[in-house]
Amino acid sequence: MTSDAANVAGLSETYSGTINPYSDRDELERLWQQPIRLFRLSNFLRQKSGRDAVSFVVNRNINFTNKCTGTCRFCSFKQRESYFLSSEQILSRAAEAEAQGATEICLQGGLAPEMKLEDYCGMLETIHRDHPKLHLHAFSPMEVMHMSRNSGVSIRQALQELKRSGLGSLPGTAAEILVDRVREQICPDKLKSRQWREIITAAHSLGIPTTSTMLFGHVESLEDRLEHLSILREIQSETGGFTEMVLLPFIPENNALGKSVSGADLLEKLKMHALARVALYPHITNIQASWTKLGRDAAAAAGTARGWRRSWQAAAPRRARWRRRTAPRGC
Ligand code: SF4
Repeated sequence: MTSDAANVAGLSETYSGTINPYSDRDELERLWQQPIRLFRLSNFLRQKSGRDAVSFVVNRNINFTNKCTGTCRFCSFKQRESYFLSSEQILSRAAEAEAQGATEICLQGGLAPEMKLEDYCGMLETIHRDHPKLHLHAFSPMEVMHMSRNSGVSIRQALQELKRSGLGSLPGTAAEILVDRVREQICPDKLKSRQWREIITAAHSLGIPTTSTMLFGHVESLEDRLEHLSILREIQSETGGFTEMVLLPFIPENNALGKSVSGADLLEKLKMHALARVALYPHITNIQASWTKLGRDAAAAAGTARGWRRSWQAAAPRRARWRRRTAPRGC
């Protein structure tokens, strides 16, 4: 199947089984060069996945510290003048969030050298004790590695302790691009691709779901992006533990990498969302369009659904309140 007409007319038959005929790299590279065909196919798969209505979570990010030993060149979060939020400050932010309708707290921060596993567990327990209904989405694989090293425990033990303390799910951040050659250029001190995969699969095996993410639009090639997507697809077919795919376009402001790289333009961002949907189908069908990174209009276009517009309009009052609070920060 190569022509547009065949794509539109025959897609239902093409996708009648569970095998995705477009998941091989050559076909994905061809689709990348043919945006109209790519968008049609992606939209077809979105409809086929029953995603005509788009869902969202009202959450609040609490970035408990910006102190970090990391050296990621794309980072705009780490600062020389660092802060730590106290338990009272964390609790008051959680309380404010819940009072305004949030159902989830996302906890992430820098890699502060003095932080041990018990500090991370303590934050979860403090929130969970006073706000048991809030889902706690917390700590990237890099943070899990950091706390397990600092406390001299295994990754598995660290995850078990976090779960006991109220952890609901793990952000799949710190993935960036899961190709070590690229990681050497943009985040040389971060965990390697294999380690990210080990921590994510350990979480899944313990019943801790995670998101999957990709930071794109910097030094990586299309081939690197396809390798990244194929790793995510493999993990999901083994564990089923990913809740969604979150595409994070690189933002060039206020970081070292942005001095030499300008980031993806709008068309490339939309193409990347479409390509991820095609490449990950049917393993991951929930593709997140991050409005805090894309902006309102681009996020609506990336969602590509009438239902998205309805959800967007219905959520307007709450969205205004959360506008400055939902951009993911930290590791
Ligand atoms: S991305 Fe995370 S680990 Fe890297 S420097 Fe920033 S806060 Fe530190």
